[in-house]
Amino acid sequence: MTAKLIDGNQLSKELRAEFQVRVDRLRANNVTPGLAVVIVGDDPASKVYVRNKARACESIGMHSEVHAMSGDTTQTELIGFIEYLNTNANIHGILVQLPLPRHIDSRAVIEAISIDKDVDGFAYQNIGELVVGESMFPPCTPFGAMKMLDFAGVAVEGKHAVVIGRSNIVGKPMALLLLHAGATVTVCHSRTRNLPDITRQGDILVAAVGKPRMVTADMVKPGAVVIDVGINRLEDGTLAGDVDFDSVKEVASWITPVPGGVGPMTITMLLGNTIKAAEQAAGLRAGSAETRIA
Ligand code: NAD
Repeated sequence: MTAKLIDGNQLSKELRAEFQVRVDRLRANNVTPGLAVVIVGDDPASKVYVRNKARACESIGMHSEVHAMSGDTTQTELIGFIEYLNTNANIHGILVQLPLPRHIDSRAVIEAISIDKDVDGFAYQNIGELVVGESMFPPCTPFGAMKMLDFAGVAVEGKHAVVIGRSNIVGKPMALLLLHAGATVTVCHSRTRNLPDITRQGDILVAAVGKPRMVTADMVKPGAVVIDVGINRLEDGTLAGDVDFDSVKEVASWITPVPGGVGPMTITMLLGNTIKAAEQAAGLRAGSAETRIA
């Protein structure tokens, strides 16, 4: 079997065309959806991510601001700046690029973001809403992965979904979104025993580990749908996912590539969440959640 590709670039293009219509409607109401991205320090990878987010906003007529703060910015200064953004009517979404320097308590900073502008969905309130299935801003990476399943026409309900990784940013919210979509979910992590025995049971297998090509063909159930969240920079400068694409594609029914898979979808969902925040602020949207308990 050679798996069909779930193309994150193509899906992003289609979704961004839909978002463009919503941006135009907002602009006709004198509202330009605005995203502020705050970056502290000069981690090169973070700078690339931030630049890509800003470009994506501008490509569909959104307003974007990148605020680069020096690595010795104090927590008080950073929170003070977030509070300014909270009151800035041109800004509907605030994203603080992680990781922050070690002297800053990331949780304190995230909690300082106004809940209506927490488009990354990392604040406690948004996490709680995700747990009960009423999330306004699902975290962008797993939200993007769910859209990819939808795009491929994969019926999630009743399936056994296996998620490898339990981070707060990807693994746990991914498991919750799959659960709300009606899957039976198993979460594996660094202490899981007999990992291949479990992954081989997955009708849907999501890898969010950060270890290049660790998921090999023998770990995948024939016909499974494989979502590769991993982005790993190899020594030669190229990117690899957590899935050994070449071997796994011979076993899976659907597979996401790296690059061009979940990565672009993460940015796309960030745009979507920011537009939603702007619609909400402009009174153009009822407070409907993205997820409901089945
Ligand atoms: P993390 O380091 O916070 O979490 C990794 C998880 O993998 C942990 O829960 C750990 O228990 C688990 N793990 C580690 N070794 C394991 C093993 N041998 N077997 C089973 N589980 C193991 O990472 P993260 O932030 O969740 O990111 C995971 C990957 O996804 C990284 O490659 C990251 O770059 C990528 N990522 C991609 C996007 C995107 O936009 N596509 C967004 C965020 C993260």
